[in-house]
Amino acid sequence: MAAMNLEDTSVVKALLSTTQKIVIIPHKNPDGDAIGSTLGLLHYVKNLGHEAVVIAPNDSPKFLKWMPGFEEIIIFEKDTLSAKSHIDAATLIFTLDFNHLSRVGSMQKSLEEAEATFIMIDHHQEPADYAKVTYSDVSMSSTCEMVYNFIEALDSTSKITANIANCLYTGIMTDTGSFKYSSTTSRTHRVVADLIDKGAENLAIHNRVFDTNSPSRLHILGCALKNMVILEDFNTVYITLSQAELDQFNFKKGDTEGIVNYGLTLDSIIFAVIFIENKEEGIVKISFRSQGEFSVNEFARAHFQGGGHTNAAGGKSDETLQETTARFVGLLDNYKDKLKE
Ligand code: 5GP
Ligand code: MN
Repeated sequence: MAAMNLEDTSVVKALLSTTQKIVIIPHKNPDGDAIGSTLGLLHYVKNLGHEAVVIAPNDSPKFLKWMPGFEEIIIFEKDTLSAKSHIDAATLIFTLDFNHLSRVGSMQKSLEEAEATFIMIDHHQEPADYAKVTYSDVSMSSTCEMVYNFIEALDSTSKITANIANCLYTGIMTDTGSFKYSSTTSRTHRVVADLIDKGAENLAIHNRVFDTNSPSRLHILGCALKNMVILEDFNTVYITLSQAELDQFNFKKGDTEGIVNYGLTLDSIIFAVIFIENKEEGIVKISFRSQGEFSVNEFARAHFQGGGHTNAAGGKSDETLQETTARFVGLLDNYKDKLKE
């Protein structure tokens, strides 16, 4: 399961045996795994002698900006012309930590028109079929663990530098909730152990990612927890944050990260949701989390234009915040059996 198959490995080896112009792309609103995997791969392919850049659809939260190579990332929303010319000139495009080209927002068209060969490395369910090499494995903890496997398949773990190790460690750590989600295997720990041996500064990474609370983040967390609604009949909790509340507490990108998980710490709650109003984009962004069998991937796909994993997914709504939560609550009746198991 875990390793890249031999056929894909030989295709990748052949591609990387000549100098390529490489573009590496994370999904929109990138998280630790998206930035960790793209930057980790960036350092690796540059060290092999390829020309390479990371192009992100939009900016990242502050707690990721310390990562080695972050300052080189081209942001499509800000530097559209430069980003487009790199995409047009690319011979090889890696798409990392997402399963469908719609996950890159306004970059989608440029990617659909690109002439380059595509390689996907991803662990989300139901990958789309656009790449020459699709290394997809939903059992993997993170795309960063898969980038490690990718490098291993190319017989190059000896080429993992401290920069690469720091990037890959970060994504594995964030996507596993610090090595506690069910996707964390003994193999994940072995990979992480090797990354520490190769220079990943585990303590410093934990501090940089998690001990970066700002007053705005703590105020927003307080507001979110106060807004929490518990639906005992459905073992469900949901939280709302309106644009007015975000403005009041001086919201900055990344401030809402992880808040959705609080609901699951309540006894018997197996489904937790956060609805975050975004007036600028005219949408409500939604995060879904579950414990056990209940698939938030299916729920997000069926009702909120989204998807993800069985226990963590995202989506959005074009309705108002009130309409969205009302529709959400109305849907729960259809899932009563699954939520009551
Ligand atoms: P989060 O709630 O932390 O933003 O995302 C949880 C998981 O769901 C991540 O793996 C993320 O890639 C995925 N996800 C988040 N938003 C969307 C979305 O709008 N569409 C899809 N297909 N997946 C999403
Ligand atoms: Mn991921």
